Amino acid sequence: MTIQESTLSPTEVWEAVLGELEVQVPRPSYDTWLKHTVGLTYDDGQLVIGTPNTFVAEMLDQRMYSLISQALESVVPDKVDIRFEVASPANVVHSRTAGQDTPTTGQTPNPTVSHRSPSHQSTLPPLLAYGGINLNPKYTFDTFIIGKSNELAHAAAVAVSEHPGIIYNPLFLYSGVGLGKTHLLHAIGHHIRTTGLSVIYSTTEDFTNEYIKAIRAGKTDGFRSRYRSADALLLDDIQFIIGKEQTQEGFFHTFNSLHMAGRQIVITSDRRVTDLTLLEDRVRSRLAGGLVVDIQTPDLETRMAILRAKAEDSSCDFPQDVLEFLSRRVHKNVRELEGCLNRVAAFARLTKQPIGVPLVKSALADSPDSYNTRRISDELVLDTVSAYFSIDKATLKGRRRDKITALARHIAMYLLREEVNLPLTTIGRILGDKDHTTVLHGHRRIAAQLDVDAHLRHDVINIREALTSS
Ligand code: ADP
Ligand code: MG
Repeated sequence: MTIQESTLSPTEVWEAVLGELEVQVPRPSYDTWLKHTVGLTYDDGQLVIGTPNTFVAEMLDQRMYSLISQALESVVPDKVDIRFEVASPANVVHSRTAGQDTPTTGQTPNPTVSHRSPSHQSTLPPLLAYGGINLNPKYTFDTFIIGKSNELAHAAAVAVSEHPGIIYNPLFLYSGVGLGKTHLLHAIGHHIRTTGLSVIYSTTEDFTNEYIKAIRAGKTDGFRSRYRSADALLLDDIQFIIGKEQTQEGFFHTFNSLHMAGRQIVITSDRRVTDLTLLEDRVRSRLAGGLVVDIQTPDLETRMAILRAKAEDSSCDFPQDVLEFLSRRVHKNVRELEGCLNRVAAFARLTKQPIGVPLVKSALADSPDSYNTRRISDELVLDTVSAYFSIDKATLKGRRRDKITALARHIAMYLLREEVNLPLTTIGRILGDKDHTTVLHGHRRIAAQLDVDAHLRHDVINIREALTSS
């Protein structure tokens, strides 16, 4: 969406940019660096952004400038210069969303960071020193919507929160991106903290940086005692440890001493353990030694429930048909779904139109491909399923009933319903004139088995991945 400069206030421009960035930037970084920023002034080809403190201003200027400027280009057509400045409370009258999101402001009186200024040395603190990175107050069990796709992961997360170190240790959560791993990990952290136990939450990136720094400074003792004093260690995105041998070593020893002392360890990954191939065997076997649970892509019903909750949380009024429209369009990733919601809200505010399906269509029209979610076609489902099971499409549509063919056919029925949202009768027709009750039976069978059959779950996840990435 591009809009004429003259009609926009700084708040509006910046909100639209934030809407873009929210989808592109990993959530912890977004929350830390971008969330509490405001558009202060916008004129003479310059946009001034208010930040809560100098660290944030420097970070945005030094590391995120080009990303921000690209996002800005997609909002306003003209060349706009961006400047970051610490906003004193007086400046921050129009915050993004009134209320709880009002930025907290720094003490320093308005130092400005201009991206061209050469004089700034980096004084960025380690990420952990900046409180926001730690546990996101919004990621709690209360705000987590439970559906078929995540109920096992949720139940396991609740169980370790209530009995840390006792039942599932370690707990290993994996899923594709944007499906709620970090949310659950933070929820565990919040819950355990309320019982007075000490929790260390760290991204694997921070863990790595901290460890390497400790080694360089010859202060591994401090590192060790800090981590080993935790009652629970929550480590997010372990896949980033791949290829970092030194850190794997540090992790291995930290893990062992915590584990032996009966402290809870929860690890997330965007890959299953067996796919973390470059990980040392001993580390991998530790990870797989507890409970391993996955989160799948949510079905339509769950997506709608999540969106409804996020919509209620926002100050905008989203009609039911809009929520349904969005949930049907975006199915791979909850973060993206949320991003769309924010984008639509920003677009509605900018254009001063009520939120309805036509507005949503134009708000999402020129967004990256992923919003428009390459529609999954029935043909693609048939191709993917038959390729996965190495049978040909004619067999899939035919009458053969050996175990593999029947399974493949049922999965096809299930996916045609869940992913393509086709009516049962249409699915029957596509699969070689089967009766709609046969389709219903096939769909139900898979849906029921998914809860109990891990092999099937993996098959379906793999096929879904193939579907959405093709
Ligand atoms: P991941 O760590 O798996 O990449 P996140 O935990 O960061 O994903 O989730 C992405 C976004 O989606 C977050 O804003 C999170 O709150 C939201 N989200 C994901 N699953 C759910 C859910 N079941 N209920 C509510 N919000 C969810
Ligand atoms: Mg995450």
